[in-house]
This record gives sequence, structure tokens and C-alpha cells, in this order.
Amino acid sequence: MTTSPQPSAPRRKRPSPRIAEVVRVSQLTPHMIRVTFGGENLTGLVSKGPAEHVRIYLPNENTGVLTLPVPGPEGLEFPEDVERPKSRAYTPRRWNADTNELDVDFVIHGEGPASAWAAAAKAGETAVVSGQPSGAYLPEVDADWYVILGDEAALPAIATLLEALPATMQADVYIEVLNAQEEQELSGPAQTNITWLHRGNDHDLPGLLLIDAMRNADLPEGDGRVWVSAEASIMRQVRKHLLEDRQLDRSLIRTQGYWKHGDLNHTDHDMGDDV
Ligand SMILES: Cc1cc2nc3c(=O)[nH]c(=O)nc-3n(C[C@H](O)[C@H](O)[C@H](O)COP(=O)(O)OP(=O)(O)OC[C@H]3O[C@@H](n4cnc5c(N)ncnc54)[C@H](O)[C@@H]3O)c2cc1C
Repeated sequence: MTTSPQPSAPRRKRPSPRIAEVVRVSQLTPHMIRVTFGGENLTGLVSKGPAEHVRIYLPNENTGVLTLPVPGPEGLEFPEDVERPKSRAYTPRRWNADTNELDVDFVIHGEGPASAWAAAAKAGETAVVSGQPSGAYLPEVDADWYVILGDEAALPAIATLLEALPATMQADVYIEVLNAQEEQELSGPAQTNITWLHRGNDHDLPGLLLIDAMRNADLPEGDGRVWVSAEASIMRQVRKHLLEDRQLDRSLIRTQGYWKHGDLNHTDHDMGDDV
């Protein structure tokens, strides 16, 4: 019997990219720059929860030109006759719908186009951000505790997560940064213990200290969750430890590779499910 091909379901259209403006640039620490995006085109942006991400579109590295989206049948879209601009995933650190301002904190790690763009960003510049944030992590607010681990790239997400955890919760947080100058003030309602891990200049791969921190951590009593975002191989080692050595159920662990050593534009869907 022959079967006729089934029509595939229509692909849901992604929200149109938005043309924004760089309103201001602030140096948070020697290696972390906050770019505040604004402008009336950001109206309607909706934050759905902590640790979500937007994509920031980047100028062509050879020409320095940022391709802007143009009106199409379903709103703004990138023109088909030129190369689609590169983009990278970033956490909306803060979205203020009253002032239409979106803060995004960039690690200046010295290699990629997004890091380079942020390091050179100036107020008044045109920028393009994706239409809506996606991938929010909705914490289990009835849990007793969270253990949270991340590197600098995860620091903005961790900050949004801490703002969302309730006062009844214990949050044990381990953040690896280069040195004490990269630490930031973090706050939220939960009973929070933050351990800053300083890798210094001797470690090639950011995040290595997170593995030992997790191995040595005492998990509190009660119902808890572990949230980890870091370089992809570091995240996998932590995940393996949690699943194999600690025998934690997969449902209690949320891991994500935010970047991968040597990889350009690592996927923003790397949850370490292969471990
Ligand atoms: C959901 C999500 C949220 C994120 N939120 C943030 C955020 O708020 N702030 C932030 O700074 N990053 C964040 N990241 C990570 C960011 O998307 C990546 O670091 C991205 O690769 C940076 O792009 P790039 O153009 O600078 O470098 P790429 O062109 O992607 O990579 C170039 C080289 O730089 C290396 N590299 C990439 N990132 C880092 C890094 N952080 N440290 C050291 N080396 C690196 C790569 O291994 C590669 O060798 C997030 C990622 C995800 C998936």
C-alpha cells in the first residue's frame, strides 16, 4: 500500500526581531559589560521567568555592517538576499517595561564576535535583538533548597534565579570567576550562601573549580533541586557526578551548556541529556 505524504504542520513563526538602540554601556567588572538596550520597538517584550535568553544579532565581522530586518508579510524579517547576521544567546538580566530598557551582561572573554561587539558598544548605536525571550526556567518554589552552580556566563542567569526564589528556600550558590574583582553583588529573598571560586590565570578552562565544588558540597536535608550552567564539558562532568555518584533523579537536576570550549555559537539547547 502506498501512502501519500502527510502535509507537515505549519511551522510556528518566530516573533520578529526588534531593532533597538544601545542606551548605555556600563562596565560592571573588568570582564563584564552591561549593555542597556532601549527604544520604542522593545514595547511588548515579555519576560516569562528567570534564566531565559534572547539572541543578540551581530554586525558582519568583515564589513562591520549590521544587517537590519525589513518589513515582510508577517512583520520584520531579515532580507533573504543577504547573509543572515550571526547571533548569540544572552540572558535578559533585567527587563523594565516602564522604561523599555533591557539590560544584558556580556562576559568579555576576548575571542568571539559577541564579546568583541559588547566591548566596543557605544550609546546611540543601533542593535537588533530577537523578538521575545525564550527558555525561561521556572523554579520549584515549594522545594526546600537549591544548589546552583555556574561560571561568569551563567552569572546573569543566576542573578535572575536568585531574585525568583522565595524566602522559605535555602540557596547554596557556587560561582566560578577569574578573581575577586569579577564578583558581583547578588540578592534575593531566599536564605542564600554564595561561594565565589577564583580560578586565577592558571586554569585554561573556566568552570573546572565547579566540579570539585559540587563533589564537596553537602546537600541540605529535604526536597531540593540542582541547577547548573557552565561550559558544556564542565556541565557534563557535574551532571555525571550528580546522576552516578549521588544517584539524584534526573527530574531534580537542570543542567545547560552555555558555551563550549573551541565551539562558535554553541547551541542554546545543550541540556546534557546524553549523560
Ligand atoms: C541560555 C543562555 C544564556 C546565556 N547568557 C549569557 C549571558 O547573559 N552573558 C554571557 O556573557 N554569556 C551568556 N551565554 C553564553 C554566550 O552565549 C556564549 O558565551 C557565546 O558563545 C558568546 O559568543 P561569542 O561570539 O563571544 O563567542 P563564540 O563565537 O560563540 O565563541 C568563540 C570562542 O570563544 C569561546 N567562548 C565562548 N564563550 C566563552 C566564555 N563565556 N568564556 C570563555 N570562552 C568563551 C568559545 O569556546 C570559542 O572558542 C548564554 C548562553 C546560553 C545558552
